[in-house]
Amino acid sequence: MTHAGADTPAVPVLPSGPDPLVARDRGLLWHPYAPLDGDAPYAVHGAHGTSLHLAAQDGTTFEAVDAMSSWWSAIHGYRHPALDRALLEQAGRFSHVMFGGLTHEPAVHLAEQLVALTPDGLDHVFFADSGSVAVEVALKLAVQYQLGLGRPRRTRFLALRGGYHGDTFAAMGVCDPVDGMHAAFPSLIAEQLFLPRPPAARLAGGQLVSDPEAVEAWIGALETMVAQYGDELAAIIVEPVLQGAGGMHIYAPECLAAARRVADDFGLLLIVDEIATGFGRTGKLFASHWAGIVPDIMCVGKALTGGYLTLAAMLCSARVATVVTNSPLRALLHGPTFMANPLACAVASASLDLLCASGWQGQVDGIEWGLAVGLAPARELEAVREVRVLGAVGVVELFGAVDVPAVTLAALECGVWIRPFRNLIYTMPPFVSTAADVADIGAGICAAVARVHG
Ligand SMILES: *Cc1c(COP(=O)(O)O)cnc(C)c1O
Repeated sequence: MTHAGADTPAVPVLPSGPDPLVARDRGLLWHPYAPLDGDAPYAVHGAHGTSLHLAAQDGTTFEAVDAMSSWWSAIHGYRHPALDRALLEQAGRFSHVMFGGLTHEPAVHLAEQLVALTPDGLDHVFFADSGSVAVEVALKLAVQYQLGLGRPRRTRFLALRGGYHGDTFAAMGVCDPVDGMHAAFPSLIAEQLFLPRPPAARLAGGQLVSDPEAVEAWIGALETMVAQYGDELAAIIVEPVLQGAGGMHIYAPECLAAARRVADDFGLLLIVDEIATGFGRTGKLFASHWAGIVPDIMCVGKALTGGYLTLAAMLCSARVATVVTNSPLRALLHGPTFMANPLACAVASASLDLLCASGWQGQVDGIEWGLAVGLAPARELEAVREVRVLGAVGVVELFGAVDVPAVTLAALECGVWIRPFRNLIYTMPPFVSTAADVADIGAGICAAVARVHG
């Protein structure tokens, strides 16, 4: 892909210049977790392959290589001909119909694909319109399952510190209770139970390795917690092996395997939130594969449509579905207006076809190698606490908070788009990134951290 490489002259970049679009945006639009009068956004005027076309001060556009995949989603890059075609073809048939009482080929076909791709034993699919809603549906289903078994007291959830599961109220309740939004809405968020973050794991020779004593202690804490509170709990919910927006923490797969075992022992369901990790991102098709487990409920989203449209899915086992079907309620009590949107389903099917045909494993392994090499120099910087890589995810963790506008600008001047948060500068490039793209991303991140934080 063509883009401004790390060694091309610095591009003229504006954080809040005369771009008329940025001026119209200001004070009108909320951006994610940002005040209305927060730092000015950059205007995107196009995107192609792994490049974003952004506006420069003089009104011309310049290209930056996308290191974020639009938050994990654009795995095949922008304007992919196969995805564009799938979208247009479905628009030529019908763009949307209600899913109550009606069905259509895009939904059925995508559900069949998901059941085939996900770990064996996940046989039923609920389509939601965002990841947060898929998590809501998963939590609701777990409660309905326990109710169906005659256990109405089992309404709480066990989650992990450092977790992130979305922004709606039930999802917020299972996000990290300190870094999440619990403090802002104390009376509105149900009190759930939390275990510490599982011990860190690092890649060595293709395996995730961690301190066995720490793992054993964590599993002990899990067993104690569930033994004490099991009869109030409906399910355990985790992001498998990689916690994303809660801190980009990579943890020991043994802890995930233990959660599976303990859930079975105590009649809890295991909900695995693969919204960020699914579809190859961690070097396995699903991060659950790192522990060789099959959850009772799995949520997927983000990369599902290749970044084209908002769509998520909740999958569950036949055992769970049967209990609900045989209960007095019979139905899963959820049904969004835009459930199983045909445009989104059609693009998702095309995206999964591409994924399977594209040799994603080779792409992700190549990115993993490129990020490991490209980010390594950051280890020498005084501000850097740690550099870690898993699959097509690279993380540079600082000791202190990132100066987000300054680091973003410095990286853009190297031709790389990143969006740091807290003390983390991270990248999850599109799977179609070339070796040169990945090298530029590594160099851009190292240069930006060095320039701003030393
Ligand atoms: C992004 C994310 C969500 C929420 O998905 P939205 O589509 O933003 O609602 C939930 N869980 C995980 C792990 C995520 O990364």
